[in-house]
Amino acid sequence: MRKVLVVEDNKDNFKMTNYALTRAGYEVLWAERGEDGVELVNRERPLFILMDINLPGIDGIETTKRIRESEANRDIPIIAITAHAMSGDRERIIAAGCNAYIEKPIDPITIVEQIHKIIGLQADENPDR
Ligand code: MN
Repeated sequence: MRKVLVVEDNKDNFKMTNYALTRAGYEVLWAERGEDGVELVNRERPLFILMDINLPGIDGIETTKRIRESEANRDIPIIAITAHAMSGDRERIIAAGCNAYIEKPIDPITIVEQIHKIIGLQADENPDR
């Protein structure tokens, strides 16, 4: 199953990302809060995670750290979604355990290709797991 997780508190942002991922054949799980994201990762083991950094409650940095605490989650790619103003925090994002980041605004036409490049998938590859 090509299950992926989007941690995003903004509904409009989620809708756009969800549209692009669904169109590419992914089953999309959605967490609006970091705490729920951690729980979903542990339960569902998604293929990859898109992580908004600005979240109510614990932020994307803390959420990433909590996900990485579990040995079983060390290899799940986590891609941070960052506002441009936060680009100075890149080191913090990577140090927390994110593999890469994509800057907002999300481009629904190219985001899946960007993700596949980051996780090392060919666009036409079918990663059943
Ligand atoms: Mn946000």
